[in-house]
Amino acid sequence: MSTLRFNALQEVLNRKTVVVEENERRSELFGKNVFNEQAMRQYMTKEAYQSVMDAIEFGTKIDRKTADQIAVSMKDWALSKGATHYTHWFQPLTGSTAEKHDAFFETVEGGGAMEKFDGGQLVQQEPDASSFPNGGIRNTFEARGYTAWDPTSPAFIYGTTLCIPTVFVAYTGEALDNKAPLLRALQAVDTSATAVCKYFDKNVSKVNATLGWEQEYFLIDTALAAARPDIMMTGRALLGHAPAKGQQLDDHYFGSIPTRVLNFMRDLEHECMLLGVPVKTRHNEVAPNQFELAPIFEEANLAVDHNSLLMDVMEKVSQRHKFKVLFHEKPFAGINGSGKHNNWSLSTNTGVNLLSPGKTPMKNLQFLTFFVNTIKAVHDYEELIRASIASASNDHRLGANEAPPAIISVFIGSQLSSVLDELENVTKGKLSPEEKTDLKLNIVGKIPEILLDNTDRNRTSPFAFTGNKFELRAVGSWSNCAGPMTVLNTIIARQLNEFKEEVDKLIDTKKLKKDEAIFNVLREYIKASKSIRFEGDGYGEAWEKEAKKRGLSNNKTTPEALKAKISKKAISLFEEMGVMNKVEVEARHEIELEEYSKKIQIESRVLGDIARNHIIPIAIQYQNTLIENVRGLKEIFGNNFERYANEQIDLIQKISNHIAEINSKVEDMIEERKKANKLEGQKNADAYCNKVKPYFDDIRYHCDKLELMVDDNLWPLTKYRELLFTR
Ligand code: ADP
Ligand code: MG
Repeated sequence: MSTLRFNALQEVLNRKTVVVEENERRSELFGKNVFNEQAMRQYMTKEAYQSVMDAIEFGTKIDRKTADQIAVSMKDWALSKGATHYTHWFQPLTGSTAEKHDAFFETVEGGGAMEKFDGGQLVQQEPDASSFPNGGIRNTFEARGYTAWDPTSPAFIYGTTLCIPTVFVAYTGEALDNKAPLLRALQAVDTSATAVCKYFDKNVSKVNATLGWEQEYFLIDTALAAARPDIMMTGRALLGHAPAKGQQLDDHYFGSIPTRVLNFMRDLEHECMLLGVPVKTRHNEVAPNQFELAPIFEEANLAVDHNSLLMDVMEKVSQRHKFKVLFHEKPFAGINGSGKHNNWSLSTNTGVNLLSPGKTPMKNLQFLTFFVNTIKAVHDYEELIRASIASASNDHRLGANEAPPAIISVFIGSQLSSVLDELENVTKGKLSPEEKTDLKLNIVGKIPEILLDNTDRNRTSPFAFTGNKFELRAVGSWSNCAGPMTVLNTIIARQLNEFKEEVDKLIDTKKLKKDEAIFNVLREYIKASKSIRFEGDGYGEAWEKEAKKRGLSNNKTTPEALKAKISKKAISLFEEMGVMNKVEVEARHEIELEEYSKKIQIESRVLGDIARNHIIPIAIQYQNTLIENVRGLKEIFGNNFERYANEQIDLIQKISNHIAEINSKVEDMIEERKKANKLEGQKNADAYCNKVKPYFDDIRYHCDKLELMVDDNLWPLTKYRELLFTR
């Protein structure tokens, strides 16, 4: 009997749910461990408080003296909450978040000690950065990296550590993390969107990008997961036969949340409340043991930080409940995968959601302006968006037999489609008074204020308008939202700049009125971006053909998709918008390619190891039992034995065949790995993608066949049904 697996199952049966008590109202818990406005007001001088607020709103610099004051207040607040350490918290280019804890504690002359923290320690720190990926930047510039405080994201206490959100940059200025380019992109979109807003409302002085993510994940019992080296090492099951019952009955989706899971969720939400992460909804997802959690949307930088933090907290809280969280986009073949929808919009400091239709024709023209510009930007940079969500694990969703497809398209619903169709017919140049009235009353004026319930929900679209925001659905559950958010906000910023230039030109040279000029430019954008709009079934084969005709990209693998990141077009976009320079773009590309290769390499090694060292020996063991049995039958029945041993002999042969196949495929795969390892960069990633990875399915096929043949008592790996239906 396979002891590890059966011990694990036994352990699960004896599990007691961890009871979580909720004694305080969530509204009271919310933000308790965050150095938020309320805490700042309480602990800081008026001037220090104001300088932080100015830094948040206008990006103004904080001088060293003020930083000292802020540091002292932050320390006092943190000590009052029981914190002993502080850390610069940042998001390196691979992995989730990074931190190095330093104690506040310092010794003083005369043998005493005190808690210390000054402006210097708040503003800048030098982590031992040599181990973080930098894509050759540091070698090129012989630069060291440092972390620098990002005052736009509030410090928080996790456990007993004060965490200070920071960017991570090289001394030569190149960004080495996910946050620095995001902040620059958000700055760019703020500037350009604010300029466009002035056509409609002179009072707007800031535009924030907003983000509301929806995090999907799987929860697997830790004991069961521990009996799966593949899950432990790669985050997904590299093999395993599909269970008799999968998700076809939808009973999990519609069912109530299992108690043990509910307790995990409550515990998690409690932590989130303290950390100021405004989690709002929780529910079962389609697949068994799959769940989702979504917050109230926030300013994009904060939302990105909160998602990274959440993933971290989830791992920690899940340990208390003896669960392993799987963020992998496709942990179980044949079962629904996980995504992280990124709901995105733009919102003004006057409180207007720019992607929400309004009450008046003018408000709706503003809405249409941002709406059409978004579609145009996505049209022009669809390949870059695809690249921004590419990863080895997300490849299992995109472009595989599951949605959304690797083709980026925009869904807007029938109502808005017909509005755009009408706008295509707007007269060139000056408009007659009749046409203006008609536009105002019958077209722009007809956009209902509340589109939310009117937008048809097309679940197969990777980028869908959902009434008052766009929803980028192609983002993977494991990814950091910073990547796609940087790209999206950068392309929108560039697009809005272009729009403003064109409108101004029409006003200046053609003497058009402002609204005439806007209608004229929008008309051209609607025509130019038509090919990105698609209302049909995004999963179908027909769409693949149609998209090809339209000239849309369909990059199914990461090494292929990532190329768009270093295209001339992409580099000039990032440089023009001040988001990244060529060195930064190329360094990132290098890191991502390398990460891809490494992931496939690890999967390949783990799969080879499991197949040979776990499965083949067990198959042989079982085969020996069969051989013993046949031998016995021969003893009893003599020459007549075959009548009784037919099935066994057949099984013996089949097992031998599967073993042979596994062995030779693993051999071949190792050979391909060796060849791949001699290559670098793109070629290395291509080889892992096209030469090594194809063996996975073959090897798995034979292992899974063996799973169906071999005595269940002997099978060493926890089975799908156990992983997915025990909780
Ligand atoms: P679903 O996509 O599952 O149907 P909803 O459409 O209700 O869910 O919304 C999902 C997410 O959209 C939530 O996280 C919510 O915070 C976010 N959201 C709502 N309005 C905005 C907005 N203006 N900007 C960004 N995100 C938003
Ligand atoms: Mg959604």
